[in-house]
Amino acid sequence: MSKSKNSRLKLYNTYTRHKEDFVAITPNFVKLYTCGLTVYNYAHIGNLRTYIFEDVLKRVLLYNGYKVKHVMNITDVGHLTSDADEGEDKMVLEAKKEKKTVWEIAEYYTNAFENDLRKLNIIFPDFHVKATDHIQQMIDLIKRLEDKGFTYSRDGNVYFNISKFTDYGKLAKLDIDKLKAGARISIDESKKNPFDFVLWFTKSKFEDQEMKWDSPWGKGYPGWHVECSAISMYYLGEHFDIHCGGIDHISVHHTNEIAQSEAATGKKWVNYWLHGEFLIFRQEKMSKSRNEFLTLDVLNEKGYSPMMYRYFCLGAHYRQPLTFSYEALNTAKSTYNRLVNKVIEIKSNIEHSKQNIEFIKSVKIEFLSKINNDLNMPEALAVLWKTLRTDEIGNKEKYGLILEFDKVFGLDLDKVEKLYIEEAKQKVDVKLVERLVKERDEARNRKEWTKSDKIRMRLVEMGIEVRDSRKGTTWKIKS
Ligand code: AMP
Ligand code: ZN
Repeated sequence: MSKSKNSRLKLYNTYTRHKEDFVAITPNFVKLYTCGLTVYNYAHIGNLRTYIFEDVLKRVLLYNGYKVKHVMNITDVGHLTSDADEGEDKMVLEAKKEKKTVWEIAEYYTNAFENDLRKLNIIFPDFHVKATDHIQQMIDLIKRLEDKGFTYSRDGNVYFNISKFTDYGKLAKLDIDKLKAGARISIDESKKNPFDFVLWFTKSKFEDQEMKWDSPWGKGYPGWHVECSAISMYYLGEHFDIHCGGIDHISVHHTNEIAQSEAATGKKWVNYWLHGEFLIFRQEKMSKSRNEFLTLDVLNEKGYSPMMYRYFCLGAHYRQPLTFSYEALNTAKSTYNRLVNKVIEIKSNIEHSKQNIEFIKSVKIEFLSKINNDLNMPEALAVLWKTLRTDEIGNKEKYGLILEFDKVFGLDLDKVEKLYIEEAKQKVDVKLVERLVKERDEARNRKEWTKSDKIRMRLVEMGIEVRDSRKGTTWKIKS
């Protein structure tokens, strides 16, 4: 696709704090890594906001004609309650609470997370892989760092020595000297510098740590950060295009990932760092521990489908905080319903055609310029609405554009009728409908036409269409 300067893909790179033209390392091919979920509980809708943003990024890359190789890890070991080696082990804590093994906890919540991804129509990563299946890659990386003098062992654990890596903290623009001067003494007194981090634990704080592996430093388990470096480099190579996560990962997790990766290879690791802003709930970042625990299933039970939540997220730019409230979600729900109705209406009269090549061309260019402007989904949605409402083209042309734009939105707009009917079916009292259909049949047999008409009217009001044939009466939900 040849593009004008305006419609070239631009992405905001946290590393440089600038919106930059995106240039892939290999033409037409993008290597993408996104940090996965720590599978000690369900994903909350804040986590899911980040995965929706990353899905939109991937869809925009695909729309621009790139092939994408996407890798995501499953954090099933090593993540402590603080991102910086302090607190309890999240997996161990939940296993104790649920009286299960850590392995069972990981499997259960990985499945639940993957189901959420499916429900949200998130394109699955090419590799969604467990940290515990990549221990050897992590050990190899730590050995490399050890050979180059970036590590030290103290009191049974292997640490990364940040003072050996001159660029430490660049991503987060950390002023290490200033921070050091003001830093409280690190809780872990074995660290030489407060920002050093554990690569390999052998001296577990947890007597009942079940996940342990042999290593050159003794039986133990990896720190959290090392998994993303080892897994991404294993699948994507030592230099790749894009790495993403939520903004909470900038200052510790991604900072440490860069340090250990670039220290090991001696070269630049990732070209573009993209970070999604938080979903805010009751004035705070939504998190598992701090406020009401809202999952996709909780929303569904309250009458908000996954697509409604996806629509809600698309309504805000990924670099803006998004405040969750039921009021705001209700607005998204009714706009989404209006969208679905409009699409159904257009489809029901699809024969109506009015060609206007100039309009189609200009609306496509406008759409591309919005999505390529650092994934501006709110403005891209406005282009979709404009397309639905215009008189410049017919339904046939509109439907073609809807399908094209939905490659990026991922709202499953080609399946809305099905979704709509499924949803309506759930609301219909099937027993009541069948009783009324039977009563109507009996009335018709007795030639009580007024009564049978009355029953038909009642069914129509319930959104049910009845068809009489020689074989009997059938009914369906009106589409
Ligand atoms: P974790 O399992 O804690 O590593 O989180 C999984 C992903 O969700 C990470 O990319 C986090 O940055 C992101 N995340 C966590 N809390 C929120 C939130 N309130 N809003 C948006 N993203 C979040
Ligand atoms: Zn990560």
